[in-house]
Amino acid sequence: MNIHEYQAKEILKNYQVAVPEGIAVFSVDDAVKAAESLKQKGTTLFVVKAQIHAGGRGKGRTRSSGAKGVILARSVGEVRAAAESLLGDTLVTIQTGEAGKKVERLYITDGVEIRQEYYVGVTLDRTRNQNVIMVSTEGGVEIEKVAEETPEKIVKEWVEPGLSLQGHQARRLAFALGLKGDPFKKAVKFIMSLYKAFKETDASIVEINPLALTGDDDIVALDAKINFDDNALFRQPEIYELRDKSEEDPLEVEAVESDLNYIKLDGNVGCMVNGAGLAMATMDMIKLAGGEPANFLDVGGGANVETVRNGFRIILKDPNVEAILINIFGGIVRCDRVAGGIIEAAKDPEIIKKLEQMPLIVRLQGTNAEEGKKLIDESGLNVISAVLLKEAADEVSKAISA
Ligand code: ADP
Ligand code: MG
Repeated sequence: MNIHEYQAKEILKNYQVAVPEGIAVFSVDDAVKAAESLKQKGTTLFVVKAQIHAGGRGKGRTRSSGAKGVILARSVGEVRAAAESLLGDTLVTIQTGEAGKKVERLYITDGVEIRQEYYVGVTLDRTRNQNVIMVSTEGGVEIEKVAEETPEKIVKEWVEPGLSLQGHQARRLAFALGLKGDPFKKAVKFIMSLYKAFKETDASIVEINPLALTGDDDIVALDAKINFDDNALFRQPEIYELRDKSEEDPLEVEAVESDLNYIKLDGNVGCMVNGAGLAMATMDMIKLAGGEPANFLDVGGGANVETVRNGFRIILKDPNVEAILINIFGGIVRCDRVAGGIIEAAKDPEIIKKLEQMPLIVRLQGTNAEEGKKLIDESGLNVISAVLLKEAADEVSKAISA
């Protein structure tokens, strides 16, 4: 799960990670009020930041007003103008793709005088089975580019499982940033606190880009991104509350509510499969046959009427879908029962209407496969049944190109 920058900064603040003062707002009037309240605390330079679940805002532009996603403002009036140009508009950045994201929230924050920008990130290094803390003097730019072109400019420390991040490791990282004296001490504290926040919130990644050394020798996070491990959210109810469904794909939100494992993709072949591994293999076969999968969908081991019906509903809501491939392996579940489930689910008036105009290829393999195929063939449904996965994939791409 992903959250907004302002939410990430609130969490980090609770862990004593230094962040500039800021207030999140949903309207122009509240943006003005936020600026006035910051002004009273001594703010003279404001930054108005679009809150969307994507980075690259500083270089992005809104579609209608052409505003940048991060705007410096020198007065309350300028904050108002910035808020007006951003709210309700669609921000397109390198990370949002062409579609962009609608700006519905803003973060009005204290602008700092930047002397130097750095990068700090914490994540799990899967090849080492250890958490890794990465720092770089190349902050404020795309870190992926740094990793590719000048990997020596990223310095890493791995945390021994069972131990926490050690002081000497944080000191080595702060030293790698070229810091000395007071900023060095502040950076060490920053890194230690950041790691604690990462661990205790079950984050999968915490990224500060940029981390700034300010004119007052402070070390503060100017940007903050946190992603959480979805499988740990059950024990992080306060974090789960921060979920912004409007930022997520509506079909994926619906799938989660139906307990289905669905990921939307860009192709035109909807697929419904039991088991994640088989779903991956099915997508590979579709591509091999020249098609493009419209989604990943694992309906789980059971594949009963209910899950198949929900699966159909979600797949059929995707306007790109031109054909559907169902691939079920009857291991624990029997194919004749699955076939019964498919036939029953397809009776849903909403579903059958759409299925009539769309090729449906069903491949059942495993226990009672023949009985299952017979049921499907005799169901009267507009369906092509296949025995081999390759056959099914070929049928589907044939249907699409027809
Ligand atoms: P994004 O990564 O989405 O472009 P950032 O939050 O990193 O957004 O902001 C982009 C740039 O704007 C930063 O690299 C920094 O130079 C500047 N910036 C962001 N927040 C502040 C701030 N509070 N004070 C001064 N400059 C800022
Ligand atoms: Mg950034």
